[in-house]
Amino acid sequence: MMIAVCGGEGRPGRTFVAVNLAWSALEPVTLLDLDGARPRCSLFLKPAPESAEVVFSPVPRLDPRRCDACGECAAACRHRAILPLKASYLLLPALCSGCGQCLGVCPARAVSLSERRVGIVEKGRAGHVSLVSARLDDREFQTRPLILAAKNLAEPSGLNILDCPAGRSGPPIEALSGADFALLVATPTPAGVDALARAVKRVKAAGLRCGAVINRAGHCDERLARYFRTERIPVFLRIPEAPQIARAAADGRLLARDLPRLRLNFRHLFFSIRNEIRRPSKIFLVGPAVHAEDLASLTA
Ligand code: SF4
Ligand code: SF4
Repeated sequence: MMIAVCGGEGRPGRTFVAVNLAWSALEPVTLLDLDGARPRCSLFLKPAPESAEVVFSPVPRLDPRRCDACGECAAACRHRAILPLKASYLLLPALCSGCGQCLGVCPARAVSLSERRVGIVEKGRAGHVSLVSARLDDREFQTRPLILAAKNLAEPSGLNILDCPAGRSGPPIEALSGADFALLVATPTPAGVDALARAVKRVKAAGLRCGAVINRAGHCDERLARYFRTERIPVFLRIPEAPQIARAAADGRLLARDLPRLRLNFRHLFFSIRNEIRRPSKIFLVGPAVHAEDLASLTA
């Protein structure tokens, strides 16, 4: 089973939910941190390193001796990675996704493919959690090859949790592909609801069933609750707005390890997801909230 933990832009708490969910699993689990620009799962889990694999992306080369400056390659490039100069064209590798479109359209056969390094995929272990982290090199933006390389390390017949990055239009398609379920993490701020709506659009376009966790739940949740009701997305868990949680998350503290009742909340979340995959709920559901008294020991 593959659960994609995703949400809108900003910091709704995806990593917090993904690591605590993984730690609460009753079986071995592979957690894939796909946020190449800012992987944070290892800060919580502090895994023992096992391996690291360098990831390359294809990048075209333009041969100036063959190029007749027709401009077909620049017109075909959706990422604007090929810029016209006075009498030739300039390739910007950092913007190139390696899609190969320019290769196919060049009438002069002036484009060939080579490779460039974009980052690494690290593997490590913390208890029953096998952590795979995609990490972009400095000044690299292309997460697609890293996400695909990381997902190659998913356990085909086991439990996998994906900590998905969020773009302006929601989680990238390559992060969602192959998932069985999308667990949306949202905060009840106006900006949080708008960002969530874009993520939900992407998740539904990918044909995924979904459920939600409301993070930093408080007294202003009505707009978010109305949104979930309208979209018929069940809310499985509400985590209250609490300075102790914010502080623990900032310190990289794994709360499911320290607080048994919170661990039970996350185990309940697993059951809700499995039930929803097996038999989608016909009515709008709102699941339990983490109780403030369960967090009391955090103030100590
Ligand atoms: S399509 Fe080929 S010939 Fe035309 S500008 Fe690009 S590299 Fe040059
Ligand atoms: S491989 Fe794709 S993204 Fe890269 S320059 Fe060619 S068309 Fe643009």
